Amino acid sequence: MLQSVRYSCSQGNLITNPIKRLFAMKRASKSKETSESSKKSKNDSQEVSSDPASASSFSKTTSTTSNSLYSTFQENRISCALDISQFQFKKKRVRILSNVKEVDDCRGPIVYWMSRDMRVQDNWAFLYAQLLALKLELPLVVVFCLVPKFLNATIRHYKFLLGGLEEVAAECENLKIPFQLLMGPAKDRVPQFVEKNGVAAVVCDFAPLRVPMQWVEDVKNNLADTVPLIQVDAHNVVPVWVASDKQEYGARTIRNKINTKLGEFLTEFPPVVEHKYKLKKNLDSVDWKKAYNSLECDMSVDAVPGVNPGYKAACAQLENFCRRIRLFGEKRNDPTVNALSGLSPWFHFGQISVQRCVLAVREYKGKHKESVEAFCEEAIVRRELADNFCYFNKNYDNLKGLHEWAAKTLNDHRKDKRTPCYSLEEFETCHTHDDLWNSAQIQLAKEGKMHGFLRMYWAKKILEWSESPEKALEIAILLNDKYSLDGRDPNGYVGCMWSIGGIHDQGWAERPIFGKIRYMNYQGCKRKFDVKAFVARYGGKVYNKK
Ligand SMILES: Cc1cc2nc3c(=O)[nH]c(=O)nc-3n(C[C@H](O)[C@H](O)[C@H](O)COP(=O)(O)OP(=O)(O)OC[C@H]3O[C@@H](n4cnc5c(N)ncnc54)[C@H](O)[C@@H]3O)c2cc1C
Repeated sequence: MLQSVRYSCSQGNLITNPIKRLFAMKRASKSKETSESSKKSKNDSQEVSSDPASASSFSKTTSTTSNSLYSTFQENRISCALDISQFQFKKKRVRILSNVKEVDDCRGPIVYWMSRDMRVQDNWAFLYAQLLALKLELPLVVVFCLVPKFLNATIRHYKFLLGGLEEVAAECENLKIPFQLLMGPAKDRVPQFVEKNGVAAVVCDFAPLRVPMQWVEDVKNNLADTVPLIQVDAHNVVPVWVASDKQEYGARTIRNKINTKLGEFLTEFPPVVEHKYKLKKNLDSVDWKKAYNSLECDMSVDAVPGVNPGYKAACAQLENFCRRIRLFGEKRNDPTVNALSGLSPWFHFGQISVQRCVLAVREYKGKHKESVEAFCEEAIVRRELADNFCYFNKNYDNLKGLHEWAAKTLNDHRKDKRTPCYSLEEFETCHTHDDLWNSAQIQLAKEGKMHGFLRMYWAKKILEWSESPEKALEIAILLNDKYSLDGRDPNGYVGCMWSIGGIHDQGWAERPIFGKIRYMNYQGCKRKFDVKAFVARYGGKVYNKK
């Protein structure tokens, strides 16, 4: 008997009006949060202190303690539906990549091949895998393929990744869902695992970047003809293939396409629950030490002290942000104020769902409308615009990906004199003549993240002080990917392409080197924030090139 994969996307048995129950729940938690936030408003004033030491957006509470959102979220999930079979799964989140569309009558497990979205809860790919397994009465297994090196990832990134996965593995164990860390490339390891364990179907998540897209393609080609490969966009609120069918010009062209679909997609999540169909045989337990020993990445850039990986730490960071949320609207472009969410590392590694954070932040809409709207614009529209760009533009990280006007203007100014002109080493060791730029680079190297406003200034100055636009883009991407915890992300490639190549921007008044690409300068920064305070915090010096 063949069972259609599509069948399981269709409407399950809805419990009686889960939406109503969710709203009742939300109202209760809202009034609780409102009174908590007014209690805390006194403490909040410390966040705008002129003390630049408060500039870091990572909370000191990114430990796993004091985490009430963690339990609130679980209550919300249970109020939404008891499990995924009682929830109406949005078919549009799912696409079947393999030619075979149906699950063969084998008794092996359903596999969730986790890659970009490294979390258990609030993960549409995990939920879909459990839905399939429940419908077909099959066991469920999660696998993750660990490659020894990946782009410019360093041990800083791998520790964050593996730390998060250890939490995933523990949560899977509690839910009686085996978790396997497969060492090596997915193209070999996933098909081998599938064959060895008689796997019925593979569900994977979605990333628009070249390397993970190729992994999916290779797995599809190497799987047996009878095993369906199903992809779920678990990273975006509106799946990338639903938001738009082409490369969008900018935020103004995609905003409406996304925002009009939020009513449909920005929903509560049901929980991933203890799985009732057990795998007959025991799988090997994960050898974490062996996993660390297998790494061949750059070991020179170590973890950032106090910035902990994993879902629980992400919830603590979100909770800390919610206490400061009123600052986001007005102060998010001031690098001396702790106004940003600081969530991007956990978003990048998929350790917390952006959709979950947006649902939590929207609870403050009544009191801090401007901040909430600004956060939704960044976390949904701008972030999903970046996924759109990388998905539809194969040259997302090189100058071939630019619009014609931008490529032309950079070319017209190719021969303009660059004084000073720095090498990668001078940039990397913070040896420019600009103490603000050097301080921003120190922040990046030390804290694993640079303030969002400074990232633009930083990349534009690399264009101004590099021998060519190509070299500038290469240096910006390399430093961003090497030091930033959220690096190697669509947002990063788009951020560099925006700064250096005018992607998602417009032409501005023409000037040397930049041509019509938007320019930023030190004086402009001084008008926006207390540059001296920022420099004093990070200690960037002035180095005059001989
Ligand atoms: C040169 C350059 C490099 C960048 N590199 C990265 C990177 O490697 N990884 C990364 O996630 N972001 C990158 N950005 C985008 C942005 O600066 C960061 O997302 C933001 O600073 C992350 O900090 P936060 O989580 O505190 O952001 P918040 O301001 O609190 O925003 C919340 C979330 O919204 C999203 N977001 C915010 N700003 C943008 C933006 N401009 N474009 C797309 N999404 C956005 C992010 O997911 C972010 O976590 C880069 C921008 C530039 C100009």
